[in-house]
Amino acid sequence: MIDELIAGFEDFKRYSYDAKDGVMQQLIEEGQSPRYFIISCIDSRANPGTIFRPAPGAFFAHKAMGAIVRPYKQGTALSAALRFALDYNKVQKIIVLGHTECGAIKALADNIDDDEISSFIEVAQNALIRAKACTDCAEELLDRTVEETVIESAQNLMTYPAVNRAVTEGRAEIVRWVVDMKAGDVLEYRDKTKKFEVITTHENLEDSRKNA
Ligand SMILES: [Zn+2]
Repeated sequence: MIDELIAGFEDFKRYSYDAKDGVMQQLIEEGQSPRYFIISCIDSRANPGTIFRPAPGAFFAHKAMGAIVRPYKQGTALSAALRFALDYNKVQKIIVLGHTECGAIKALADNIDDDEISSFIEVAQNALIRAKACTDCAEELLDRTVEETVIESAQNLMTYPAVNRAVTEGRAEIVRWVVDMKAGDVLEYRDKTKKFEVITTHENLEDSRKNA
């Protein structure tokens, strides 16, 4: 079973180490300098390392169920990582990446009877309440809760001193994204319209490269 992972790594090695312009050698010699910090769900289908087809060194990654960010507390994995990314590296965008069909958000809406899980996701209750105020449709409720949770998490991020400092000083900004898994789109929250809007173009990659 583990063979598929090793085969994948060997493939990665062929392109990123052994190729003439293998990027890993350069990253090891010169160090990393990621521009993004992505906070995403643990869902295996919405893994930013897969869906964005990133080059090595593109972003720092933090994962939590539902891409939920709890209010700041010193000494957590996330607070230390954000401090490292913003004060010791030059991250410019912190991306909160939610996704539709999210098991964590469904568990929240279904009021799951599991203390281990509910004690973490309950922080998104406000998002669920706001979503309920906007719709009666069960399916729409889940999508709406995903969006509201991303907004809530982004607000909570501002309680992290390193984030607050970087945003206030204009060194970094917080980006709110949702992956619509069925449609295969990325949506971004716009303050102007107060809505998540599709930012993917569906352009064929080959065409966009040709036109670049
Ligand atoms: Zn999820």
